[in-house]
Amino acid sequence: MKIIANSILLLLSTVTIYGQTGKYPIPPVMTHEMTEFWTPQPDVVRPGKTGKNGAILPPSDAVVLFDGQDLSQWEKAPDKSVLVKGKDMSKFKSSENTNAQWIVKDGMLTVNKQAGDIQTKQLFGDFQLHIEWRIPEGIQGESQLRGNSGVFLQGIYEVQILDSYNSETYANGQAGSIYKQTAPLVNAMNPPGEWNIYDIIYTAPTFKPDGTYRTYPTVTILHNGILVQHHTRIMGTTPYIGLPQVVEHGKGPIRLQAHADESAPISFRNIWIREW
Ligand code: MG
Repeated sequence: MKIIANSILLLLSTVTIYGQTGKYPIPPVMTHEMTEFWTPQPDVVRPGKTGKNGAILPPSDAVVLFDGQDLSQWEKAPDKSVLVKGKDMSKFKSSENTNAQWIVKDGMLTVNKQAGDIQTKQLFGDFQLHIEWRIPEGIQGESQLRGNSGVFLQGIYEVQILDSYNSETYANGQAGSIYKQTAPLVNAMNPPGEWNIYDIIYTAPTFKPDGTYRTYPTVTILHNGILVQHHTRIMGTTPYIGLPQVVEHGKGPIRLQAHADESAPISFRNIWIREW
C-alpha cells in the first residue's frame, strides 16, 4: 500500500515538472561567456612616474593644477562669506578675477598669508585630487596655530592641513580631519620638513528642490598612503564657529587656505586632479 502511495506521489510530481517545462521556457545552462562583457573597454591611463624626491607625477589624463612652474591655474579666492549666501555658483568665482599672489619658488608653492586664500579657476564635480604639502622645519606655535592651512573641496568643505606631528589639538581639527566634523581614523603625519601627501576621492552632493541634500557629499582620504577618511559623509560647510550649513551648489573650485596666524607658512607641490 505504501509502495503504491509513493508511486502515485512520484507520478504526480513528474507530471508537475513536465507541466512546468511545457509551460515556461527552460533557462539555458550558464557558461562563462554569459557574465563577461567586452565593450566598452576602460580608457587607458598611464600611471605617473616617480619624480624627484619621491614625488608621484601626474597620470596621463590628470588636470595639472601646479607643476612647480606657475599659478596660471589659480586665482585669488573671494571672501568666504560670499559662498554661503547664494545658490549661484558664479559666487564661487572671484568677481575681480585677480591673480593668485602666493609664492612660487624652487618648484614649490608657498602660502602668502597677506594675500588670502587662492582657488582653482576651473570648477570640479566628482574628483580624485592629489596634493603634497610640507610644514616647514622648525615650525613654531601650538594647536591650531602651527602650520594651519586647508584644502576646501568644491570651495566650502575643508580637509584640514596642520602640523599634527607630536602636536595635539582637538581631534576633529587635526591633519586629515573634515574640519570640526570628523577626526581622521589615525594620525599619519610626517614630521616638519618632510612632505605629506593627500589623495582625496570626493563625491559631490545632490540636492532636493528645497536645497537640502538628497545625497550628502562623501570623501575618502589617504594621508601618506594611509586611510584616514573612509567614505565619510560631509554634513555641510566647515565653519570655525557654529554648526555645518547646507548650501546648495554645483561644481566648485579647489580652494587653499591662507590661515591668519603667526607660524611660518607651509608649502605645496605636485597638485593634480582627475574628474570622474
Ligand atoms: Mg585650516
